Amino acid sequence: MLSQQGRRWVDLSRVVYAQLGSALTRGVSTSSCLARAEPQPAEPYDLATPGFVPAAELPRSPGGWLRELGIVRSDWTREEITEVFETPLLDLIFHAAAAHRMHHDPQMVQRCTLLSIKTGGCPENCKYCAQSSSWSKEVGLKAERLMNNDDVYEAAVRAKESGSTRFCMGAAWRGPSQVGGRQWERVLDMVRRVRSLGMEVCTTLGMLTPEQARQLREAGLSAYNHNLDTSPEYYGQITTSRKYEDRLTTLEAVREAGISVCAGGIIGLGEGPSDRVGLIHQLATLPAHPESVPINALVAVAGTPLGKDGLEPPTGFDMARCIATARVVMPKSMVRLSAGRLSLTPSDQALCFMAGANSIFDGDKLLTTANNDRNEDLEMMDQLGLSSRPAFLPYVAGNTSTGEEHSPAAALAAAEAELAASTHQLAAVSSDSACCGSQGQHRCGCH
Ligand code: SF4
Repeated sequence: MLSQQGRRWVDLSRVVYAQLGSALTRGVSTSSCLARAEPQPAEPYDLATPGFVPAAELPRSPGGWLRELGIVRSDWTREEITEVFETPLLDLIFHAAAAHRMHHDPQMVQRCTLLSIKTGGCPENCKYCAQSSSWSKEVGLKAERLMNNDDVYEAAVRAKESGSTRFCMGAAWRGPSQVGGRQWERVLDMVRRVRSLGMEVCTTLGMLTPEQARQLREAGLSAYNHNLDTSPEYYGQITTSRKYEDRLTTLEAVREAGISVCAGGIIGLGEGPSDRVGLIHQLATLPAHPESVPINALVAVAGTPLGKDGLEPPTGFDMARCIATARVVMPKSMVRLSAGRLSLTPSDQALCFMAGANSIFDGDKLLTTANNDRNEDLEMMDQLGLSSRPAFLPYVAGNTSTGEEHSPAAALAAAEAELAASTHQLAAVSSDSACCGSQGQHRCGCH
């Protein structure tokens, strides 16, 4: 735990770093950088100037992305993203860290929990997945029924007590249309009940119709996860039971319903570097960047087609490169270091946080595969000076509301309450205990 003095230095270094990063990446002198903490347009914008050509129509020069570091753009070309991706790793991480500090608190990492509410028996044939019925015999995983609502609620309570602020529920379905209305109603009830705990709620249930997305929003869903997995051209190697366009259609329904979009991919499916670029390009050129971009490392499960191939698992450097590229091209999104952390050392993960990762999954299980030990995660975070992100702290890429209780004012109030609680914890353990501002509600000595 950092002392108050330590926190002051961290805050100061963040300001200086953001300003220095802004200056270095735009070629301005350091003497003028103090006025440039916010991202600035690369060119003066003057429509009245004769011959003015809008920036979007100008041919982009190599390295142009550096002059626009931190600016949100949806007009990325694949060549530009290739250039970002191929930047020498330490330089790439340096630039990504600068972009990260322009928009995010680099000390704050969200801890999320992922629960499989309906395991196995999925009619889709994603080659990396242990839950597909296509190879259930080889994997040895039996299809289970939808979990009991009380059990899901209790799992969410335990997750909250352990410090998770986002609870994600996954069902091995092609989509809710595959199941009866009663099961669907139960899922909506799960969303309502978890939301009532004051947690952000995410689901990953397969393909959605616009009506199903609307119902989820009304139930209080914060975010919907639907990964693109890989590049459009490699997708056919990963699954044949649906098309890339189907994924994009669901993402559109989610966005239209006003639910926060969570879409990313998996590294280590046997794809090449150009597929990693293609995935990030696809995400970065959506009409709006996903608010969350999970970057997963394949967890190869014996019995699945990709478990048999003996593929090389992605290295920490591979993960850091993908995260840094995602951070540079989608600077405001939450880049989530997701599945596959067990194969990464704490030093690998530190590199990923430096490159711009904002969150991890907490708990010993991710759907059907093992996850990192919570105590080891907390120790790592402590060593790196990271703190847990409170629920409903507004996301810089947008924090889509669902209902009155999700209004921006309510979200801010909830975030302030969470922060006051964590301030209290800091004050209580600090030798120079400052007041927690709770006016006697806590035991920090401010009665
Ligand atoms: S990844 Fe999802 S859709 Fe694909 S087989 Fe697994 S559970 Fe089904």
